[in-house]
Amino acid sequence: MRGWWQDLSDLVLPAQCPGCGRSRTSLCTRCAEALRGAGPGRVRPRPEPPGLPVVHAAAPYQDAVRAVLLAHKERGALWLARPLGEALAGAVRAGLSSGGGGAVALVPMPSAPSAVRARGHDPTRRLAYAAAAGLRRAGVPARVLAVLRQRRAVADQSGLDARQRLVNVAGALDVVGGTAGLLTEVGRIVLVDDLMTTGASLAEAARAIRAVARPGTVGVTDERAGLFRSRSGMGMANRITVRAAVIAASPDSFEINRN
Ligand SMILES: [Zn+2]
Repeated sequence: MRGWWQDLSDLVLPAQCPGCGRSRTSLCTRCAEALRGAGPGRVRPRPEPPGLPVVHAAAPYQDAVRAVLLAHKERGALWLARPLGEALAGAVRAGLSSGGGGAVALVPMPSAPSAVRARGHDPTRRLAYAAAAGLRRAGVPARVLAVLRQRRAVADQSGLDARQRLVNVAGALDVVGGTAGLLTEVGRIVLVDDLMTTGASLAEAARAIRAVARPGTVGVTDERAGLFRSRSGMGMANRITVRAAVIAASPDSFEINRN
């Protein structure tokens, strides 16, 4: 039986690799490599929800990757934020490689306040900060803008199919009042999460971001929405690109596996 003291000592001095359970003091080399996968790649859920931005993932969601994500999220192994943040930073950079330079804002997917209370921390926000730090170490000017919030309660997505998930999250997110200016100021927005399943939540988050960056006030670009030019006639419209990056996605969502 695990007692609270064992959980506590795991935070300070992990006795086993959280990926494979082998006895050691940190993530073992093999599990660290699993987190890097075959390198970050473009992922697409099937079916793909309407409005889903381009998503890159660091690794397939299986085995050690799954175990490490759960250890961080549900068992409070906060020290894993660093390696997980590096993996997330890699996925962010893979998505940016096609775009230009400049500052990047990482927007973490919001957790339900009740989930944050139950876990005692907000894992996605923590990973966003760790990824931003990793990006800055690599010379990419990155910051975290935690501007999304749940405007209503949503049911737990597990156990729902793709269509039910879309209905469950439709209109569920919005941008905290007064922060839209921060988004347009940065321009390159990357939604970040630990895991993509059906993509329903990421599509809803992208909708909420695009809703505050309306054509007429700023231009909005991404591969799907196309380019909306400012109607202001100022000529130098701000442009927002919305992409998404996750640490893990189902193995069959990686484009390389399709044929
Ligand atoms: Zn291991």
